[in-house]
Amino acid sequence: MLTREDAVWLVELETAEALDECLAVVRERWPALGDFPLKVKLSFARSRTRSWGGWRDGKPFVSLCLDWLLEMPLRREFREYASFADDPEIGSFWGNWRECLRALVAHEVAHAVCGALARTEQAAAWPDLRTAHGDGWREVYRVLRAELLAVG
Ligand SMILES: [Zn+2]
Repeated sequence: MLTREDAVWLVELETAEALDECLAVVRERWPALGDFPLKVKLSFARSRTRSWGGWRDGKPFVSLCLDWLLEMPLRREFREYASFADDPEIGSFWGNWRECLRALVAHEVAHAVCGALARTEQAAAWPDLRTAHGDGWREVYRVLRAELLAVG
């Protein structure tokens, strides 16, 4: 059996790996963002359940609440917002903790990417970057989630 400490360590390790992969995709796909200095905050507090991503203090930022991953069953439903839950590429799905974590990272980093893209000269070429879960965000999330959850 894993202790809680071991599980936290494992989730932190996996989160770092998922973030690295995500950042590599962002830098390759949206070079206008430069090296995209993402600030990351992880929390395992039981009282905190809301993850967040966006723009804060002049920087792209994500705050990931990960406690739920420590006690999840082998598989669970990763639930997305009702407005796009049925989308086969970015909607809700059943997955193991690693897949759920990767979808969460892609979701929140997509908010940070939109915050950054909205501040570039290319912003006008994008649909609706400032609406959370709007068309611009969905386009970014679609790219990141496909890359992070690619099999093999
Ligand atoms: Zn969101």
